[in-house]
Order: sequence, then structure tokens, then C-alpha cells
Amino acid sequence: MAELPTHTIAAEALTRLVADIFVRAGTSAEEGAHIAHHLVSSNLTGHDSHGVIRVPRYVLNLQQGDVFAGQTITVAVEGPTHAVIDGNGGFGQTIGPLAVDYGIAKAQAAGLCVVALRNSGHIGRIGDWGERAAAAGLVSIHFVNVRMGQIVAPFGGVDRRFSTNPFCVGIPGDPPLLLDFATSIVAEGKVLVASNGGKPLPEGALIDPDGDLSTDPQTLYGTLTQNGPRDPGNGQGAIRAFGDHKGSGIAFMCEILAGVLTGGGTSGPIPPATTRRRVTNGMLSIYLSPDHFGAQHFVAEARAYADYVKSSRPAHAGGEVLVPGEPEARTRADRLAHGIPLQLDTWASIVSTARELGISV
Ligand code: NAD
Repeated sequence: MAELPTHTIAAEALTRLVADIFVRAGTSAEEGAHIAHHLVSSNLTGHDSHGVIRVPRYVLNLQQGDVFAGQTITVAVEGPTHAVIDGNGGFGQTIGPLAVDYGIAKAQAAGLCVVALRNSGHIGRIGDWGERAAAAGLVSIHFVNVRMGQIVAPFGGVDRRFSTNPFCVGIPGDPPLLLDFATSIVAEGKVLVASNGGKPLPEGALIDPDGDLSTDPQTLYGTLTQNGPRDPGNGQGAIRAFGDHKGSGIAFMCEILAGVLTGGGTSGPIPPATTRRRVTNGMLSIYLSPDHFGAQHFVAEARAYADYVKSSRPAHAGGEVLVPGEPEARTRADRLAHGIPLQLDTWASIVSTARELGISV
């Protein structure tokens, strides 16, 4: 599928529209603003898969009672350097900041903290949480899974056994060094983007039940109609885990740490009688304060090492070595200056959701 033309909109205007949509759908003004901020932030960093393309699905989740407005966190277990936090099924854009700030405060006091978050609504781009900890001067490591969200085949298999299980490491700096990726060849949102005429999937991203590789979003979603729902429940195939046995192994450990250790639950098995799934994110986060480790010049030394890595001669003429977080920082600067390009189908589905809620766009 070729890439289609886009509608470009300024970040500020898009944030206002998305906030209005959620307020009309039933959130408070504050919660609507949080959701809009984080979705647009994902678009700003270039991760359209976790941006405003999610608006219709989030609104539907709220209307169907699969995510709840106005929730806060409950601390289920606590010690000086750890906590188990329940997100009570609230919006990830409300629960995420509360859980992350909890871990940040403890790590700033004790030097480190491990937070096991369970039962949160979709927490979106995990880089937001790495960036939040980095802004507070902390290193952070995040293992994430999606309860009842199995759509990824393990290395050597064809059946869905993992969710897209993102892994993230954030290092303070300006911009922060930020590694943040799904452990599947592509995040599910990238299949969503491709199904709307956006960036095509890379070779071998999907696998069908017979073991044949595919780049066709219908392998995951079943037969597609324009503006129709994109539900992995309608398809038979799976996304493949990245990096052969190594990537598949990280995905496996995300399930154990974010699903089993947090108590939030793994991506599967899904009981055969299940007709509706309330999908939630689990996240095991480790926060470290460099000062407590005696690393007084940590930020400058990490930056110096990043510059050394970047000084490698490029493999191809005109190429460049980038460090994690650099593409996102560049895209953010560009999109803040020139607006956010949205696929026309994505824009149409947001406008249609807004109109259904009585907002004229
Ligand atoms: P991706 O494949 O675009 O990889 C992004 C990472 O690679 C970033 O750290 C980036 O800085 C780095 N990077 C990219 N190009 C680079 C280059 N040329 N040189 C050096 N580093 C480079 O990311 P993805 O797997 O598509 O994930 C997209 C987003 O989806 C992530 O933000 C992730 O957190 C999110 N996600 C969330 C969930 C959830 O359940 N909440 C699930 C899956 C994915």
C-alpha cells in the first residue's frame, strides 16, 4: 500500500480539539487535557501509532465501560524502595503520571525505587514516562505488557502469545537519551496506521496461521472496510516478535515482569468464552538517582559518550549515526514548527467522532 496524502494541523489546535472530544465524552476538563497532551505528544515525537489516531478507540472504550474516567491510583503494597500500584482501570494518561511521580519521589529520597503498576488503561507511548523521569534527573527502565492483549507470535511460532510489550530506558539530558520500542517488529498502532493508508509495514512484520510472512494489515484485522473498525479479534494472523530469539526473549520477560510480578495479568491465554476484553497495561518501572550512585557528572559523561558513538563514520555516504531519542527530538522540533501531518482517514475518523459528540470542526 502506498503512503497517502495528509492533513496538517498545528499541535495546539489539535490538542484543544482532542481535549474537547474527551470532555464531551465524559471526562473532566483536567483529564481531557491530560489525554490530549499525551496523545499529541506522541504525534509530535513521530509515533503516530500512539497519537490521536487512538481518539475514536479511546472514546469507544469509555462509552463501553472498558476504561473509566476520574480514577486515581491505589497503593496496594509499599516499602521504602518499592510499591505496587493499582490503576483502577483509569485512563493511562491520568494513571501514568501519578504512578511515575510516585516512583520519582521515592527514588529521589532513597536512591532507587521499583514501581509495579497494574490495571491501568492504555498508557500510550512509554517514552513519555522515561522523559518524565529524566526531567526529574532520574534514570528509568520500564517493562510493559498488555493484559488480554496477545497479538504477537513468539520466535519459532505462529500463534499469538505476547502483546507488543514495549521496553524503555530513559537517561537524563537535553534532549534525554531515550530508548523506547515495542518488542514486536512493529507496534500494533503501526499496523493501524498502515491500514489507514499510512506508512507501509516492513517485510516480514506479520505472519499468518500457516506460517507465511505478510505485510497486509488484513492478516491482523481480517477484511478491511474504509473507516470500519480495526479489531485484531477479527483477524487470524499475528505480528512477529523482533530480533529473532533475543527480541522474543525480551518480550517474554516483559510479560513475566509487567504481567506476572505486578499481578496485572499476562497477554494470554484468553478464555474461549470471552466476548469482550477489557485491555489494560501493566508496567514494571525501575527508577535510579545517579547522585545516590556517586555519579555526580553522569549527565555530562553520558552525553560525551553519546557524542563519541555519533562520531562513528557512517556506513553509507551521506548517512549519520543517531543515538536513541534523537529522532524523536528532531521530529518534535519540526512538527512544533510546521504542524502535525495526519493521514486523511485518521483525520476523518477524529472529525466523525467529534461530530457524533456534537462538536463542529
Ligand atoms: P521504533 O521502532 O520507532 O523505535 C523507536 C526507538 O528507536 C526510539 O528509542 C528511537 O530513538 C530509536 N531509533 C529510531 N531510529 C533510530 C536510528 N536511526 N538510530 C538510533 N536510534 C533510533 O518504535 P516502535 O517499536 O514502533 O514503538 C513505537 C511506540 O509504541 C513506542 O513509543 C512504544 O512505547 C509504544 N508502544 C506502546 C505500547 C503500549 O501498550 N502502551 C505497546 C507497544 C508500543
